[in-house]
Amino acid sequence: MKTDDGQGKPAVDWARVRADFPILKRQVHGKPLVYFDSANTGQKPEAVIAATEDFYRRHNANVSRAVHALGNEATEAYEGARGKLARHFNVRADELVLCSGTTFAMNLVAYSFALPRLKPGDAILVTRMEHHANIVPWQLVAQRTGATLKVAELHPDGSLDLDGLHKAMTPEVKLLGVAHVSNVLGTVNPVAAICREAARRGIVTVVDGSQAAPHMAVDIAAIGCDFYAATGHKMGGPTGTGILWGRRALLDAMPPFLGGGEMIKEVRFDGTVFNDVPHKFEAGTPNIAGFVGLGAAVDYLDALGMENIATREQELLAHATEELTKIDGLRIFGTAPEKAAVISFAIEGTHSHDLATLLDLEGVAVRSGQHCAHPLLQWLGVGTTCRASLAYYNTHAEIDAFVAALRKVRTLLA
Ligand code: PMP
Repeated sequence: MKTDDGQGKPAVDWARVRADFPILKRQVHGKPLVYFDSANTGQKPEAVIAATEDFYRRHNANVSRAVHALGNEATEAYEGARGKLARHFNVRADELVLCSGTTFAMNLVAYSFALPRLKPGDAILVTRMEHHANIVPWQLVAQRTGATLKVAELHPDGSLDLDGLHKAMTPEVKLLGVAHVSNVLGTVNPVAAICREAARRGIVTVVDGSQAAPHMAVDIAAIGCDFYAATGHKMGGPTGTGILWGRRALLDAMPPFLGGGEMIKEVRFDGTVFNDVPHKFEAGTPNIAGFVGLGAAVDYLDALGMENIATREQELLAHATEELTKIDGLRIFGTAPEKAAVISFAIEGTHSHDLATLLDLEGVAVRSGQHCAHPLLQWLGVGTTCRASLAYYNTHAEIDAFVAALRKVRTLLA
């Protein structure tokens, strides 16, 4: 995709794009909102809000059960979203499970894939930079199977120690959980190369794409993993939406995670025949309107072009990093060469909660805390960090306002 018009002008009018997001026109504490918490959840363009509302106003019915017109429309809209997501991620729609988010997806793999297979002596390998969603489900499975959890460590800049990771892929390792992009450090991991190495050793790979899907073109087929999870609400879709892609042969061999309606073909008291994949893993009424919204979000991202989004965010990241580096006593955690627009930082002599609270009074929304990554924060040797996470709808002017606010609140705390 072209990122300029051939004469050096951007192919996308980012000011017009920004105008698509009603919430960004808000004021907070009397100041224009500067939303730098997109790694937590992304803001929603008008097209997503309108699609969700239109579903409830005109098409609302349950899916796959009704023969009436609205039921058919709802089913078409829900399955249409699955098709859009499959095209967006370059996978087959019948391998794409629609679920509530990455947390659900990881638990599905943990309970339906790992639990029946792992035994004492087996190991699950994760990296130091994982989100709790890619740690705790494996710990729960390890407790119940007698398997152990192994950890691959990082270089000081927050990139993965790939040699160490490969060395940790010993014969007892049956499964590897790895983030595509770290939600704290922004590090972009070379997941295709990692999955290739794992596959050579017969290790099943689960990639946490929560922080990659909003920032870059993700071609799951090219990555070559066995499972890939992503969360819809970070991609501009509604909360409570996400995907799990899995290889068909693995999904077919896995027992259902949850039982109930929608996931069966026939129920008798002496035995139940389950539905085909992916419906086997979608028990109960799904978040239909949510997925209609996520389908609209995918249309929106595809129209902008994920390459254009990535280029735009790299410009914003470069500007923010340059300006933050000028602040005395400010330390950035995560300086890997391949990095998404997520900046964790701390300022000497200040507490990140105080910084975030005072920044909020200036209209700036950043996250402060441990970012659901306690083991990583323990390694960084800090209790908490502030995290400014940017998206394509942010501006250079907002970064300047954020930096000015940071300088101001820092003096207040000194
Ligand atoms: N993994 C990563 C890297 C994340 O950033 C998040 C969300 N903070 C998750 C998993 C969990 O996503 P969700 O809460 O939508 O299930």
